[in-house]
Amino acid sequence: MAEDTSKEESAPGWYADGLRHVWRPYAQMKTAHPPLPVTHTHGSRIVLADGRELIDGVASWWTACHGYNHPHIRQAVARQLADMPHVMLGGLVHEPAATLARRLAGLLPGDLDHVFFSDSGSVAVEVALKIALQYWINTGAKGRSQFIAFKGGYHGDTTGAMAVSDSEDGMHALFAGLLPRHHLADLPDSDDRLAALDALLAQRAGDIAGIIVEPLVQGAGGMKFNDAIVLKRLRALADKYDMLLIFDEIFTGFGRTGTMFACEAAGVVPDIITLSKALTGGTMGLAATVATKKVFDVFWSDDPAKALMHGPSYMANALACAAANASLDLFESEPRLRQVAALSAALEQGLAPCRQMPGVKNVRVLGAIGVVEMTRIADLNALRARFVDEGVFIRPFGNVIYLTPAFTISPDDLAQLAGAIIKVIRTL
Ligand SMILES: *Cc1c(COP(=O)(O)O)cnc(C)c1O
Repeated sequence: MAEDTSKEESAPGWYADGLRHVWRPYAQMKTAHPPLPVTHTHGSRIVLADGRELIDGVASWWTACHGYNHPHIRQAVARQLADMPHVMLGGLVHEPAATLARRLAGLLPGDLDHVFFSDSGSVAVEVALKIALQYWINTGAKGRSQFIAFKGGYHGDTTGAMAVSDSEDGMHALFAGLLPRHHLADLPDSDDRLAALDALLAQRAGDIAGIIVEPLVQGAGGMKFNDAIVLKRLRALADKYDMLLIFDEIFTGFGRTGTMFACEAAGVVPDIITLSKALTGGTMGLAATVATKKVFDVFWSDDPAKALMHGPSYMANALACAAANASLDLFESEPRLRQVAALSAALEQGLAPCRQMPGVKNVRVLGAIGVVEMTRIADLNALRARFVDEGVFIRPFGNVIYLTPAFTISPDDLAQLAGAIIKVIRTL
């Protein structure tokens, strides 16, 4: 029998015993490298079972905006756990949920005042789509069941959310035949594309409930940036053809692009906004779908049939709401947006050398998002492993190597992340 390698020796018992029962995300598990066993996190560090410490460049899928284990969030969750971890929201309500809803309404622009809580981003998108569909039903309009969505867009992995994501080069092509068909358009980022979208809307206005877009950055679809002018045009088109405008800010919300919400940078108020990822500062799953007064008023009625029929079991989980309130405290008490601005400049400077390197197609930075787009990445698994060898956790996908660190990352750690990217690209 083969002897254990040193790696296996250092792996904890739970790893060997349990791993084969864990179905991993977005992975061909047979050929993907085995996942790294993690035992602790702190700040911008991920501590592995063998004692190695990786500098984190991803912030756990963009959630851990204050770094891991922030004491203020931990204390808030611990306090809430002692009082009440959870109670259903049907017929009951609690302080953490009411306070969080009030605070979100206060932070969001315009009269985005009515907050529906759920447990994940995908579900928040499902709720946004249902609200938009029922908005038209409640107003008596018939047949408005389609959405305009955009190439390169990603709105989640549940079926309704997949149906408004770009399946061409997205993660959902397999299911295309099963999903309702919506309109996948080009973002109106040129006069020609604006005219084409205007023509489509003019022709189909009676079928369309709303327009859904990720403002400023299409994240999981390839870290593609779009301009504020695109969002202004979408607002104008939605108004012209009387459609609801949905901004999916699950990635961009809570400072990631430099303002608290991306819509602020464009001066545009959508009719519905979805939030999740950094809402709890990376502590636990929580999402919100927030609607304007105009939308909410259509559901407010003496008619029971006009109520929104949705209600997750763990809706507004008290621990998650406590974490989210604590995360919002940190945005108030610490200079997060200034840190994002500094981070933006540091990413710009740190990644600049990549511009001249062979195989690099484009380098771009917005807020705390730094992207090195390659012409192609031949072996993602190998590239990911190279980063771990360099002592960093960076997870390229498609043709994109990106950094979305915690806003609190130290200049030294950030320099090491950028340095690792430069070093690894040089060897490709
Ligand atoms: C991550 C993401 C989602 C899905 O959120 P989950 O919590 O993973 O379900 C939806 N929209 C955008 C823009 C996202 O980045």
